[in-house]
This record gives sequence, C-alpha cells and structure tokens, in this order.
Amino acid sequence: MQSRCCATIRARANTRSSTPSTSRWSRTRSRSAPDLSGGGGRPAAFLFPQGNRSMDPVSATDRYLATIPAARAALATAYTQGGHWLVLWGWLFSVLVPILILRTGLMRRIAAKVAGEKDRKNRAVFAVAVTFFLLHWLLLLPWDAYADWWRERSYGITSIAGGAWFAQSLISAIFSAISGGVFLVLLYLLIRRTGRHWWLWGTGISAVALFGAIVLQPLLLGPVFQKFTPLPQGPVRETVVAIAHETGTAADQIVIAHGRDGPSYTARVDGLGSFARIVLGEGLVATPVDTAALRAVVAHEIGHYKHQHLLWLTLFMTVLVAVALLAIDRLFTNVARLLGAGDTRIADPAALPVLAVIFATFVFVTTPLINTALRSVELDADRYGLDHAREPDGAARALLKTVDYRAPSPGRIEEILFYEHPSIRHRIENAVAWKAEHPAAAPATAR
Ligand SMILES: [Zn+2]
Repeated sequence: MQSRCCATIRARANTRSSTPSTSRWSRTRSRSAPDLSGGGGRPAAFLFPQGNRSMDPVSATDRYLATIPAARAALATAYTQGGHWLVLWGWLFSVLVPILILRTGLMRRIAAKVAGEKDRKNRAVFAVAVTFFLLHWLLLLPWDAYADWWRERSYGITSIAGGAWFAQSLISAIFSAISGGVFLVLLYLLIRRTGRHWWLWGTGISAVALFGAIVLQPLLLGPVFQKFTPLPQGPVRETVVAIAHETGTAADQIVIAHGRDGPSYTARVDGLGSFARIVLGEGLVATPVDTAALRAVVAHEIGHYKHQHLLWLTLFMTVLVAVALLAIDRLFTNVARLLGAGDTRIADPAALPVLAVIFATFVFVTTPLINTALRSVELDADRYGLDHAREPDGAARALLKTVDYRAPSPGRIEEILFYEHPSIRHRIENAVAWKAEHPAAAPATAR
C-alpha cells in the first residue's frame, strides 16, 4: 500500500491492491521540516526541560506546533480534510462500479460459458472473479489515478512518475485478480457445500487470506516496488544497532528502502517473527541525521514488531470479516433485488458484484472502528518507543516532520472518524507527559 501507514492493513472496499506495508511512522515531502535541531547538528530539548513535573503537556505541545509555518499547516489541513471526502467518494465509486458491471450481464455470460454443459463450477467462479477484479480496476483507474497519484503529486507527497505509478497499479491489479480469484473459488465452494453456516467457514479461509495479505504480501511484493539495502557502516548504523541491541532485536532485520517516492521520512514493519523486516525510508537516514529522532522512530517500529501488532490486527480484521460475511449472508437477497439482479442465489458467481457492494459498504461503515484499532496499536508502539529510546524530544521532532500529510490538531470526532494514527498533537502531548513522568530518564543521546 502504498497508502501511507497501517491504513494499508484495512481490507479495502475496492479491489485495488497494494502492498500492505504497515505501521508507517511518517512520510514527508521533500520540503524541509521546521528546524528544531538547535544548531550545531545536536538536537536540543529547548522547548521543555527534562523532568519538570510541573510542565503542562498542552502548552508545551502548543510551543512545538507553533514552529510549523502557517502556510505549511494550512496546506496540510487542506490535504487532510480533502482526504476525508475521498473516503466518501471512494465508497461511492466502489458501489457504482460493481452495479455497472452487474447491469452489463457480462458476469452471467462468462459464468454460463465457462461452466458449460459439464457444470465446471470452480472454473466458472475463477473466470468471473478474475474478470470482475480486472474490470473493477480498469473502471476505477481514473479515480485511482486522481486520488492515489495526481492529488498526492500535486500536494508534493509523492514524486513518482505517472508511468511508474500505472505499472505498479497494474502489477497489483493482476496479483489481486489471481489471488482474489483463488480465494473466491474456495469461498464459493464453501457456500455450496456448508449450507447456512458458510460464513463461519468463510471466516476461516479469510483468516488465512488476511494473514497472507497483511503479513506475507509485503515480503513478497515489497521487493517488486522498492529496493532494500542493509544499513551502511556509519553513525546511522551505529544508532540503529544500539537501539536494536537495547531492545533485543536483530539489527540485520533493519533495512533501508529505496524507490517509489524518493527521499522520504518513513519507517514500517513488514512480516512477522524472524521473517520480519523493519524498513527505514531514505529520508529518515539522510544526513544530517537527527539521532534522537531516529532512535525514537526505530524504537516505535520495534514496538510494533515486539508487540506483534500485525498479528493482533490480523485477528481484529478476521472478526470484522466474520461480521461482513454474516451481513452478506443476511442481506444478499434483498440487495440483489434492489440492484436489479432478480431472484438470484448467493452461490451464483454471476452475482459476485452484489457481494462486492455489500462488502464495500460494510468497510465504509466500519472505517472509524478500523481506524480506532490502528490508532490504539500506534499509541502502544509510541509508548514502547518512549520507554526504550527515552527520546521524547526526538519523538516530537520526528512527528513534526509528518505534518505535511496529516493536519496536526484535528477535532476529537475528526480524529476518531478519519485518523489512522493518533494526531500529532495527541502524540506529542504523550511524549511531553512521558518526559514529565520520567525525570531520571535522560535521553540516551545526551549521555
Ligand atoms: Zn507505527
């Protein structure tokens, strides 16, 4: 995904697939972040003193946020709030496109032709599914090109060329069509064989599919889109190895990603256990490196890894999928009639667009719930990062660099509905509060 964070975990309503990179700390434009280095290349904690129990997190955070230039903050707000509307439009298109495909009757013709007289049901499902996914991608392409590429480029979030973006989109679409086709062959098999409890069995294979999409796909597809290299010798490597050592993490699991977006301030965790990869963006390790911020970000990512957040999110998404499949089971007949599919049965692959409409709507309605799960693991990783890196100022500076793609001070409701990470204000307040609670914890970079 490359959408930009744990959001990539969400089971997307539409079929466009992207590498579900997870837990991305941040991403910034190439524009320089506010200078909080304090000069001399040494980050200074000048905004609030260490271990001052009387300091007020809100006013200390205000002072941090006041360093963001007004024009930059305004642009970030425009980008963020415009992005909220994209959720609504995205759902609308993810409903309209399947309806359009349903109305053409193409799915019914393909199902009948492939099944033939020998009634080859599995082949029919696969043919219908692959055609549906590819058509869905093609019809949504103008919208995706606007939302995922043109808009991101116009706000300076990405610098990827149109041709490269299209190639990645196409590769993802083909991967999704084939893997989605295989999944649906199994799902329809269960629908035909297991009777009214098919949705429960379907949840079982969905858990396996989600595990593949969230945990394995980034490891398999990641190298197609990005080049990974080990950390070169030097101060960055020393910093990363030190924090890895302090947390008992293998430093060779930490790599630098090159490509796609060019220099960027990002980090994420791909995979699980000994197969996991902590991926640092080029911007994070570009010189001059803010060592305290780097420690804070790496410790946050190690927190995701140590606390098995990918696994917990996979379990959470599995529960949501169970509810989604139950909703499909209960609503199918009425929605099919509503969409003009007549008295069709749920086991008929030609009615796949009806399932897609219900599923897309379910994902849309549960977006705040999914975002809340994502925010809660981010808060947990923040806490782990603060406890282990002991760099609240570094964490705050790193957060300020993420301001371009997410307005820092949303309203409470706005944050609950739309934010996949807690707001920058919220996270800096936590860092300040941590600092006040740990008067003896001198930052490691100050020793
Ligand atoms: Zn994170």
